[in-house]
This record gives sequence, structure tokens and C-alpha cells, in this order.
Amino acid sequence: MQTTYWNVWARPLQKGEVAVPKGQSTLPGGLPLVPLMTILDDYLATTPHSAALAKQAAHVFVDGITTDTRSFDPYGITIARGAGTRKWDVDGNEYRDFFGGHGSLMLGHCHPKVTSAIQQAAARGVQFAANTPEEVAWAEAIKAHVPSAERVRFTGSGTEATLLAIRIARAFTGRAKILRVCSHYHGWHDFAVSGYASQHDGSPAPGVLAEIARNTILVSPNDEIEVKAAIKTHASELAAVILEPLGSHFGMIPTCDDFVVAASLAAKANNVPVILDEIITGFRLGLSGFQGLFGLKPDLTCLAKVAAGGLPGGVVCGSEAMMSVLSRAKAQNKVLHQGTFTGNPVTALAAIATIGEIAATNACATATANGAKARARLDEAFKRVNVPWGAYGQYSSFHILPDVPDGVDLSTLPVSVFAGRPVKLLQSLRMAMILEGVDIASRGSGFLSAIHDEADIEALGQAIEQALLRMKAEGLT
Ligand code: PMP
Repeated sequence: MQTTYWNVWARPLQKGEVAVPKGQSTLPGGLPLVPLMTILDDYLATTPHSAALAKQAAHVFVDGITTDTRSFDPYGITIARGAGTRKWDVDGNEYRDFFGGHGSLMLGHCHPKVTSAIQQAAARGVQFAANTPEEVAWAEAIKAHVPSAERVRFTGSGTEATLLAIRIARAFTGRAKILRVCSHYHGWHDFAVSGYASQHDGSPAPGVLAEIARNTILVSPNDEIEVKAAIKTHASELAAVILEPLGSHFGMIPTCDDFVVAASLAAKANNVPVILDEIITGFRLGLSGFQGLFGLKPDLTCLAKVAAGGLPGGVVCGSEAMMSVLSRAKAQNKVLHQGTFTGNPVTALAAIATIGEIAATNACATATANGAKARARLDEAFKRVNVPWGAYGQYSSFHILPDVPDGVDLSTLPVSVFAGRPVKLLQSLRMAMILEGVDIASRGSGFLSAIHDEADIEALGQAIEQALLRMKAEGLT
């Protein structure tokens, strides 16, 4: 007798087996159906060691995680190691990785030159509480490529970089307010959270003082008229305008280039310093970042991720005049900045190796081309499985938008459509793709590196096709 499964993705279809849609209990002729294995059941069956570790983690971490970004229901995969474009979980499952270390890996996992630099640095000692030649060479590499970098200061992370940049701007101008764009992400410190994922009305986020929220002016992304008017109105009280070049999460909520350029020029015209947050775009769009591509010279620039060689670290760089508030020559008016791990020699050597390799191999152009190929392959996948979904993004990114209205050009959609993407559905997509050996970010986004190849991109396309078929069969889409 013919056996029929309605979830056959746990293994290849065998002779005599067919997939049937959800809700159907028998086949014509009364043939029986065997029990369903849902995406979730399959995930649980495929990742038992991750599940056990998640249980252990739940005893030490709130919600079992140590950064909100890794929140995933019922638990995320636990990764044991990575190499190139692949990573392996504690159950031995292999994944093509499009999460890219939160965007910090332009050269994939364990690039031989970067790994060797880290090993050499670690073998020499990781903390001397002193100046090192490595930090100077790292700063020189930043200065050589980033147009606005007259002076450089290192920090421990991207969040610390924007925190320091805001303090420098306030000390330099003697003004209190910061103008930010709703949804733009600049790290998790008090001056950056209200208006990012919540509190879009400017009210204080939980744990943030009302005075801080009051000193933040939020404007809508992509509204040039609004941003220009806000800068003009508040110029005398604005310490800085801070901008994320492509919009929140590497363009997941896209910001037009024209908006960023217009806001920067309006700030300059009104004598308000500009902080450009190139923490994702720096050394990814090109060696000189967004500012190099668009001929901007922000007063301060923040970098981290690729600029820190994929290791913990951050950079604030900018004009001689503004950075000089850090100088002891300012005596009582000096801006305080310390940090046990600033300019750490291991990060410094990884960063020098990464920047050197990117410069020598034209890696930014390759990653950008890979981004375009990935978006095209995703769109092809949506057509093949006949779902009205779309891929969007710029440079080395992709973002997935479920339920694009028929025939609509994505670039014409309002920001609210991207901001309101169905998080739960995209998590199911990620889970189904994990089962196909591909990992993307939970929000349905991904980063391409310079070392992803055609086979990786084809695997991405095939994985999403299978994942969507499965989601369709379960009635999820
Ligand atoms: N700004 C931007 C644009 C970022 O993408 C990030 C990190 N995703 C940050 C700031 C914060 O950097 P970190 O996670 O190193 O603190």
C-alpha cells in the first residue's frame, strides 16, 4: 500500500510517497496519512544538544540568552565552531552562515591571516596596561582609509563608540540635545534606546531617565523636510545629529541615501556637528565607508565590527578640533575617557590583518556583488514556490519581506511596512532554513561576506525554497 506523509522534509521523498496540504486527512482512494512532523518537531529532533545547553543556560541567563539579539523560540542553536562560510552546532549540524557575526565578518570565520594575527598577538600577551605598537598601526590603517579620521580613539565596543562620540559632541558644543532618526540603532546605552525599537513617541525607554529622553529629538526616517526643519529649529541647542547611513540594521528599515546626505548638509549649514555611525557600513561598503562613497566628511565617525577585525572593539575618529576635547591640555574641561580594553593588542592585530586583506583583495566590491546575487536568488526562489515575498537591501545585505502587495516596487513602500515585518513568521522561516543547513538572522536578514561563493548563494536559494514549501504545507504562509 502507498504510504503518504504530509511532512516529508525530515528526509527525501521516497518512492510511493507524496506531500499533501495541511488539513487533508485522506487521499483520494482513502489511502492513509502518517503523522505530521512539523518544522518545530523536526527542529527539536535535530538539535537535542542545543536544547540541553539552552536548558542549562536558562539557569544562569534571563531567558537563557546574554544579548537580546539572540532571542529565538523555543531556543537558538548553540554553535561549536566555524570555518570560512560554514559553522557547526553542538549536534554536528553544518550551516552555511549568512548571519556573519552580526555583520562583523567580512572574510568569514577563521580567515587564515586573521587567525594567525590573533594567535601571534595572544602568544605575546593580551594586556600590558601600556601603549603598544599595534594600536598605533591600527589607528594609522583607520586614518589611511576613513576620510574624516584626523584623530582616532579606540573603545571597547560599538556602543561605547557612540556613547563617547555623543559626549565629545556635548563637551565641544556646550549643548545638550541629540537629534536621532527613529528606528536607527546606535547601541544600547541610555542616549540611543528610546525611539529605536520602541518609544517612538520620544518617551523614555524602561530604565532611561526622562531628562535623557527629553534631550533627544526624534525625526522620522526619510522625511527630508522634517529633518531639515528640526535641525534649523533646534540648532542652538543641538550637540549633534547622529545618523545610521543605510537605516536600521544595515537597511532592514531602509533610509534613502539622499536623506542621509540632506541631513548631514543641513547640520553643517546650521553649525551642528554630525556623527556618522559607520559601525556596520565601515570597511563593508568600501574601505572609506558610506562617507567615502558619498563625499561626506562627518565631524565624528563611529566604527566597530569589521573595523575591529571581527573582535570586540570600537573606534571614534573625527576632526582635530572636536577630538581635542579629549586632550589633557583642556585641563578641567577635558572629556574623560578610559577603558581597560581600549586598543587591545589582540583586536588591533586582527583589525590590521582584516583591513589589509580587504584592501588587497577588493573584498568590499566582492561582498557587494554577492549581496546583489543573493537578493536575485531569493527573488527567484519566491517565484518558484509562488509566494508573494520580496528581497531587498543594498550592498552586502539581504532582507526578506513577506507579503509584498502584487506588482509593487519595494522601493516605493512606506517605512512602516519594513518596520512592521512579521517577526514570528520570519522566525519560523529561520527555523525551517536551519533544517536545510542555512542560518540567517531571525529578522529574516543576512550578510554576505567577500568569501561567499556561487554554491553558498545557490544553497541559500534552495534552502528558502524548501523552507517555504514546508511553511506552506503547515499553513504558516
Ligand atoms: N551602531 C550600529 C549601526 C550597529 O549596527 C551596532 C551593532 N549592531 C552598534 C551601533 C552597537 O555596536 P556593539 O554591538 O559593538 O555595541
